[in-house]
Amino acid sequence: VSSVEVTEAHIQRIAEVDGEINAFLHVSGEEALLAAAEVDKSIAAGTVASPLAGVPLALKDVFTTTDAPTTCGSKMLEGWVSPYDATVTARLRAAGIPILGKTNMDEFAMGSSTENSAYGPTRNPWDHSRIPGGSGGGSAAALASYQAPLAIGTDTGGSIRQPAAVTATVGTKPTYGTVSRYGLVACASSLDQGGPCGRTVLDTALLHEVIAGYDPRDSTSRNVPVPPVVAAAREGAKGDLAGVKVGVVKELHSDNYQPGVISSFDAAVAQLKDLGAEVVEVSCPHFEYALASYYLILPSEVSSNLARFDAMRYGLRVGDDGSHSADQVMSLSREAGFGPEVKRRIMIGTYALSSGYYDAYYGQALKVRTLIAQDFDKAYESVDVLVSPTSPFTPWKLGEKVNDPLAMYLSDLCTLPTNLAGHCAMSVPSGLSQDDGMPVGLQIMAPALADDRLYRVGAAYE
Ligand code: GLN
Repeated sequence: VSSVEVTEAHIQRIAEVDGEINAFLHVSGEEALLAAAEVDKSIAAGTVASPLAGVPLALKDVFTTTDAPTTCGSKMLEGWVSPYDATVTARLRAAGIPILGKTNMDEFAMGSSTENSAYGPTRNPWDHSRIPGGSGGGSAAALASYQAPLAIGTDTGGSIRQPAAVTATVGTKPTYGTVSRYGLVACASSLDQGGPCGRTVLDTALLHEVIAGYDPRDSTSRNVPVPPVVAAAREGAKGDLAGVKVGVVKELHSDNYQPGVISSFDAAVAQLKDLGAEVVEVSCPHFEYALASYYLILPSEVSSNLARFDAMRYGLRVGDDGSHSADQVMSLSREAGFGPEVKRRIMIGTYALSSGYYDAYYGQALKVRTLIAQDFDKAYESVDVLVSPTSPFTPWKLGEKVNDPLAMYLSDLCTLPTNLAGHCAMSVPSGLSQDDGMPVGLQIMAPALADDRLYRVGAAYE
């Protein structure tokens, strides 16, 4: 089939199901078909740009695109069109991947359910009364409802992995610094990382190789070779994990997790053993402080990064009628443009960074971050990868946790340590939970720049 045919079929599927799912904030049908026609020409001419040339994709609405709005799920940026493409966007285009549209997300990537979007929540394709995870619920739901075969997400504390887990799709948070953040609207700069999402481990690996690589436009980009993730996925698909040492993190296995998640995880560990892996238990004693550390570091960075939305440079402007001062226009615009979760985090971050509290909160959180990284380093002295459930819960009902921020934050328990350490991790589908029949994810974690290990183990397990 041609890329135009594949792209057309997906645009049609979006028209059929997305009124209900709400995975897309913007559909770029015409632009995607034009790109597909170009790819078909290059395929005919024998100049294929990449193994994924012609396969269309859904892009999280936090990456800038010159031909579609970038809203980050916020009223603050409604209708804003970037004058430049993010590096990730540019790499997708260069690889001949048509972009179907921009996907729904929690506002500025803060949330675990996509209910913090200013444009209405996304529904989980497995059960429309349940959340699709967050913040990248739109990308995961687009995959799970066959509206797109590939998607891009971002993961600051789990926003690729948790949505993958609760929709039975695959998602990777690459090593920090290996996928460019240029043109990725910042949530928390020291934690944010773009990454690939797919329905299989191999698809995800192929996309990983398209988007990863050094970018001089991102000051935290690492000038190192991209780990051989596609080769690793092919190796893993042979189903032999002999010689691979897997650590089960004691602190990420608790009676407080949903029973169906724990039984699915225990079955996954048994399967890894059957595949030949050597499995041992390891302890990472500081992981229990990851949540507290993350929810100080992230709001601190958010309070600084989101100061740019001042109603002067871009986005919404309220009260600009000659009767208000510049200060008043700024506060009226921020009041109207940001939702409750974003405001909550800006306030927490401003407080944590204020003089007098800095040492007690932000400074202390940074120390814990170091201890967590040291726990990982110690664990990786004796194992190749670590595993845990991706999330303590399967997808819950829409509305169930919106009024309880702490309950929402708890769903990130297993994913946060990886972001704090700057390492890589993946979620792969791990069957359906015994208690509610909803998808469960297995999280595989590996040291910085060892992303290939995720794909070897993930492909063997899947
Ligand atoms: N759920 C986490 C949060 O709300 C993670 C967000 C993310 O990874 N962007 O911060």
